Amino acid sequence: MQDLQWYPGHMTKARRMMEENKKLVDLVIEILDARIPLSSRNPDIDSLTKGKARIVILAKTDLADPAATKAFLSWFASQGVTPIAVDARQKKSLDRIRDAVKSACREKMERDRKRGILNRPVRAMVLGIPNVGKSTLINSMAGRASAKTGNKPGVTKGKQWICVTFRQGKEVLSVELLDTPGILWPKFEDREVGVRLALCGSIREEILDEKELACSLISLLLADYPEAFNSRYGKEGEDFRNILEETVEGTGHTVVDQREAALHRVLAKIAENRNFLSKGQTFDEGRAAHLLIDEFQGGKIGRITLDHVPERDETKTEAE
Ligand code: GDP
Repeated sequence: MQDLQWYPGHMTKARRMMEENKKLVDLVIEILDARIPLSSRNPDIDSLTKGKARIVILAKTDLADPAATKAFLSWFASQGVTPIAVDARQKKSLDRIRDAVKSACREKMERDRKRGILNRPVRAMVLGIPNVGKSTLINSMAGRASAKTGNKPGVTKGKQWICVTFRQGKEVLSVELLDTPGILWPKFEDREVGVRLALCGSIREEILDEKELACSLISLLLADYPEAFNSRYGKEGEDFRNILEETVEGTGHTVVDQREAALHRVLAKIAENRNFLSKGQTFDEGRAAHLLIDEFQGGKIGRITLDHVPERDETKTEAE
């Protein structure tokens, strides 16, 4: 799968920009989508941010499954990363960000203190793949900005910094945030990862047929959130998992084909339940597909996380 937004030229440019900006900052704030904390990671993030203090923010946590978010927070912590989960649109998330910045930059502050430098601002940049909430978070932080500064002496021309001051009792923490986020490229290699990225809006949906995308969503939701799915789209206790099971005994098709066909039948059944008729007397699967994706993205089916926390030593195979 290849997203046209990200042909190699774009990646090279993004990488070069990152290398340049990296030199200017102490701290990298990596934003992930809490609904897909693994799929929304850039594959090269570790090498790109080497040598910098780092925090990981799971944004859109209001749309994600709270139990899964909790499990992911522990998993990231076990990997040596300090993660926090926020709704990037909410000002109250900023206290959590302040604490994470303090903890990630403790060494730098300690070094400064020993040299007699007090309250030197932490310089930070926000990074992440498209649509994870980078701009929203920067805007929330800018909302508490004391000033916007233009070109600073000694800093590459044209960079805008937002100065954010966090006060807590007598303590003051100043952060200078690069006002444009670093946009990273998503992972492409794996179809399942691509599907999740498209469902969460990080790569354009058009690269996959909408019905195909909806079928993948049905499959994921019936595996992990059957009650939420059945109660929203089924009629009187209908369990769509029965449709998936019906086909197992069929003959003449491969298992994959059978499953595809069964998922399409679920889609058609949803169209029937909603009375989505197309021109002939058939039900309009396309309209049902659109509805499903739209309602998933709007959080209407429930708070859902599509990625699974890797089991021990399974990091590499998770997306398979
Ligand atoms: P960027 O491409 O990473 O800069 O993403 P944006 O900040 O532009 O956000 C993409 C979309 O997600 C926008 O419609 C935001 O309003 C929405 N958004 C961002 N953060 C959150 C969040 O924490 N919760 C919810 N529900 N929506 C969010």
